[in-house]
Amino acid sequence: MNLESMAKYFSPKSPALSDSVPATASDSLTISDVMGAIGMCQSQAGLGLAAFLGKIGISESDKVKAVLLLARYGLAQCGKVAAIRKLADEEKARVVLVLAVFAFMDYSRSAASEVPCDACDDGFIEAEVFTNKVHTPFHAREMVKMSRLMGVEGFKPSEYEVRREVRERVRVICSKCNGKGVIKTACNDCRGRCVVVDKEESERQGVPVKKACKRCSGRGYERLPSTKAFRVVNAIAESITLDTWKKSVKPFYDEMITRLDIEESFAESALRSTTK
Ligand SMILES: [Zn+2]
Ligand SMILES: [Zn+2]
Repeated sequence: MNLESMAKYFSPKSPALSDSVPATASDSLTISDVMGAIGMCQSQAGLGLAAFLGKIGISESDKVKAVLLLARYGLAQCGKVAAIRKLADEEKARVVLVLAVFAFMDYSRSAASEVPCDACDDGFIEAEVFTNKVHTPFHAREMVKMSRLMGVEGFKPSEYEVRREVRERVRVICSKCNGKGVIKTACNDCRGRCVVVDKEESERQGVPVKKACKRCSGRGYERLPSTKAFRVVNAIAESITLDTWKKSVKPFYDEMITRLDIEESFAESALRSTTK
């Protein structure tokens, strides 16, 4: 059994839980085999299993667990980063926890993910609009009335109107997310397909030639901008400037993201070895 097939056991609609004759060897596991395997995997590769279950959205508590275990790993490793090592204990713990939260968000992204739109609040933005209001002041209204009654020639009521520009704040639909409040993380260039048409090569060869998408490096989705993590870190510890971030903290942050992938593969092999 692997992580992917294990996930099916968590779905209520899963055929894996039926009594039907299993088609493949891995499906022939009984539910107690599966529970046992997950228990083993849990004790051998707790972080990787929690990270995977949190990533695919099966469990909220596993998300929290993965972040906390990653933060614990980060705290044990951060001594090698002077900028973090120098911080007071309280600040250090908060910075590492922030790194763990952002690292987990980045790790769980996929082309099918949706993230809250950062340009708006629930799909709406406050905008300032200018409208022209026209009215005829009280004293002029009398003049207009009289002039009409008397049939004054060439009289134009509009000359007595007062126009003023009114500034109003209104809630309008956010154009970035189209009012949905969320945006897809799929890459804008390849739309999550990971490949794009290589224009030059296609013209040269006369057939459509695909190449890995440059914008997302063939990943299919946009990475979480690390500057978002930086802003929060900087708010906690001013001593971590953008320069320090780029030089030493970001590489450590990237390492924490990679750690989640490594831990996931540990969980994968622990699961495989317990259920052949
Ligand atoms: Zn929006
Ligand atoms: Zn792309």
